[in-house]
Amino acid sequence: MEKEKFFIDDSYIKELLTVKASDEEIEKILDKAERFEGLNHKEVAALINAEDKHFERIFKIAGKIKEHIYGDRIVLFAPLYISDYCVNRCKYCGFKCDNKFNRKKLTMDEIRSEVKILEAMGHKRLALEAGEDPVNCPIDYVLECIKTIYDMKLGNGEIRRVNVNIAATTVENYRKLKEIGIGTYILFQETYNKDTYEFYHEAGPKRDYYYHTTAFDRAMEGGIDDVGGGVLFGLYDYKYEILGLMLHNEHLEEKFGVGFHTISVPRICSAEGVDKSFPYAVSDEDFKKLVALIRIAVPFTGMIISTRETMEMRKDLIKTGISQISGGSSVEVGGYTKREKGGSQFILNDSRNADDIIYWLMEEGLVPSFCTACYRKGRTGDRFMSLAKSGNIKNVCLPNALLTLKEYSLDYGNERFSAKANELIESKIPLIQNEKVREKVKENLVRLEKGERDLFF
Ligand code: SF4
Ligand code: SF4
Repeated sequence: MEKEKFFIDDSYIKELLTVKASDEEIEKILDKAERFEGLNHKEVAALINAEDKHFERIFKIAGKIKEHIYGDRIVLFAPLYISDYCVNRCKYCGFKCDNKFNRKKLTMDEIRSEVKILEAMGHKRLALEAGEDPVNCPIDYVLECIKTIYDMKLGNGEIRRVNVNIAATTVENYRKLKEIGIGTYILFQETYNKDTYEFYHEAGPKRDYYYHTTAFDRAMEGGIDDVGGGVLFGLYDYKYEILGLMLHNEHLEEKFGVGFHTISVPRICSAEGVDKSFPYAVSDEDFKKLVALIRIAVPFTGMIISTRETMEMRKDLIKTGISQISGGSSVEVGGYTKREKGGSQFILNDSRNADDIIYWLMEEGLVPSFCTACYRKGRTGDRFMSLAKSGNIKNVCLPNALLTLKEYSLDYGNERFSAKANELIESKIPLIQNEKVREKVKENLVRLEKGERDLFF
């Protein structure tokens, strides 16, 4: 890709950040958002500097979108760190190459032992994570790990979707990932501002801003339909980053017909050996604003927060945008089996285990979902987006959430849990609008009780 035609133009973004829209213009943009039409980057720019009085309406619309498109379900996943070898020096990360600790990559037996634990926790969807190291963690090793994960079945437990978060790579390697059956390919941009990017990425292949920022182009050329972007909020001005995300999304839509499948919104937090002063650290208030803005701008893109946020924050963000969270997570290599001292990538704020999180979600009236149906039904890329945009996605999300929760409660829930889950399921069945689907869900709930598994729409 020619650098001068690059989709991230620093001076253009800075110019957009000076936009001052009138109240009337803002209201017009918000009317559009309220019709679930999404917003282009110029419209987002007009909202970014809006006064607080407008944010009241922005939060309301974000909540409405969340409810209308995603309903009450929250998809759960768990990260699985397979290797912490890394040749990069990212200033904010505990895995950076100059941090000295016993680095580790999992053997296939160790992968099986980690996956066994994750399956016993009820997880069906993993995000595979690895540092970048072509010698210690080459693509063939990653592929072998994915195969081992898919092959590992424990009782009724199985991992049905492996999303992959590995360093930017070549079209050939992306093709291999596609062939082995990954779900979403996730790569955080970290920051869209090139100077800041180079400041934080001091050494290693990740330092190449253009190679990193064009990774999704290569992933899509390699046949991967679903890509998940993200920014590490706090490295640079969050307003700039939102516009970066929007421009990146539009670029992918224009070139490949489909933008981000998901956007992750991690926020900078302390990690060992990391300078704790981040001038652009995002306050709780701004964080809520940015989640709401992204939600109304790309209503059909899933939004993910990690274990780093506190319970209170998760609760607020789920209302205005977040559709996926991790549960019972470990961010150490081999961490589910044995939490090793000294190698943690980040310090977590929410250390409750998966059971607690699932129960907490139910108490909030939300339906914890272990659904992996779309990917397995071939509803990926633009096929997924057209279903989402037609508004019909809700007709499969809620039913699948109820069925996977039932499965979870039958296989892993105690009496208290099952009682709560059954009560929640009963209360949500009437919300399924399509009568045929509603009847099918009731039928499938009985089939699950009789021992069948993996029933989905
Ligand atoms: Fe390595 Fe990723 Fe950490 Fe950078 S962020 S040091 S690439 S593990
Ligand atoms: Fe996600 Fe599709 Fe399942 Fe809905 S039906 S939760 S979009 S996999």
